[in-house]
Amino acid sequence: MAAKYCEPCTARGKTPKAFQWCTECEEALCSECTEAHKVQKMSRSHHLVEIGKIPNKINLSYNCSKHQHLLFDYFCVDHDVICCKECLPKDHRACKNVTSIDIASKNSKQSQSFLDYNEQLSFISDALEKLKKNRKESSSQIEQEETQIRKQIAKTKENIIKQIESLEELLLTQITELKDKNINGIKRQEKEIGELVTSTNDQKKALEFIRNPGSEKQAFITINSSKPILDYIENKVKQLTESFVDTSLILSKGYQQTI
Ligand SMILES: [Zn+2]
Ligand SMILES: [Zn+2]
Ligand SMILES: [Zn+2]
Ligand SMILES: [Zn+2]
Repeated sequence: MAAKYCEPCTARGKTPKAFQWCTECEEALCSECTEAHKVQKMSRSHHLVEIGKIPNKINLSYNCSKHQHLLFDYFCVDHDVICCKECLPKDHRACKNVTSIDIASKNSKQSQSFLDYNEQLSFISDALEKLKKNRKESSSQIEQEETQIRKQIAKTKENIIKQIESLEELLLTQITELKDKNINGIKRQEKEIGELVTSTNDQKKALEFIRNPGSEKQAFITINSSKPILDYIENKVKQLTESFVDTSLILSKGYQQTI
């Protein structure tokens, strides 16, 4: 991080806020010092950058990370690291290729390391971008699948309800048909029974008549002429009695099979 206060002024015991950063002097400057910096012969060609535009994470410190009071003055080619004059005898005593940082950093923007750094960064960026895209796609795919499955469940429910409804309709139609058939049969039998009751009553009246005022001859003729009628009625009663079965819808075979 660049210093918050003007460094030349801080050296003189004042602390005005720094606004610019000189990339050559590696110093933060207040507005007054910036104006002076721009016109002084030594610093006229220096590059100034607004402090606010310097990225937060950029390392503008030249001090050793292990020895804060010392600058990175050396570069060990063998270890591919920068180090200070205290690190040097400690960690790189046996190293053969150690140069000053000023020599090592010459044309560093054109160096392979810079290209590698650049390439590594764009590789990481691409990979992260792909990961982000992939996660986004996965989550939208899951959303779509959920919607689809919900639709399928609703459709299946609808189909099952339709099937149950049509089964219900079929059963209701069958039970109505079955009831009508049975009731019609019973009505037919009732009508037949009614007719037989009428005929039998007629015969009873005739018998009553011949029992009292009728003559013996009349009784004889009536008995003989009524015989086939009574036989017919008796036969019919027998037939009806035999044809009667206990009618029940619940025991009906057709109905039960449908269920
Ligand atoms: Zn200043
Ligand atoms: Zn400068
Ligand atoms: Zn060090
Ligand atoms: Zn080394």
